[in-house]
Amino acid sequence: MTDISVYRRSGDLSGRCLCGSVTIEISGSHVAAVGACHCAMCRRWSGMVMSDFDAAPEAVTVTGKVSRYASSNFAERAFCPTCGSHLWFRDTRDDEPYEFMPGIFAGADDFPLISEIYIDRAPGYARLAGDHPKKTRAEYEARSLFVEGDDP
Ligand SMILES: [Zn+2]
Ligand SMILES: [Zn+2]
Repeated sequence: MTDISVYRRSGDLSGRCLCGSVTIEISGSHVAAVGACHCAMCRRWSGMVMSDFDAAPEAVTVTGKVSRYASSNFAERAFCPTCGSHLWFRDTRDDEPYEFMPGIFAGADDFPLISEIYIDRAPGYARLAGDHPKKTRAEYEARSLFVEGDDP
C-alpha cells in the first residue's frame, strides 16, 4: 500500500463547483495525490470513476449551500444543489478527512494518481493508465469498511 504521508502538504488550494455557488478553501494539511475507486456506488455517483484526495477537516472552509447524501451508514457524498457538481465523499463516523473531488480544484492538476481500488470492477471505458498500486474488490474489502452488495 502506498504510504500517503510522503504526499502530505501544508498549503492553500481553492476549489469551486461549476456554477460557483459553492467555494472550498483548503488552508493547511492535505494529501497532494489522488486515489480512484471503481466500486458500484462510486461508479454510479460519478458516472464513470470516482477519484479524490484527503484534506484535514480543520484546514477546510466551505462557503455556500451544499447537499449531502448519506450513501451508507458511515459516509456521505456532497454536491452542489444548483449545478450538481460533486464536492466530496466523507466518512461521517468521526472527525475524518474530507475526500475531495480533485477536478474542482485547479491547483490539483499536478496531483499524481497513487491508488486505484475495485480494479477488477473497472468498466472498459474507465481503465486508468500507470503503475500505481491497485487493489481488487476482495483485496480492498479484506482490510477496509465497505457496503455489502456492491453490484453495478
Ligand atoms: Zn454549483
Ligand atoms: Zn467506491
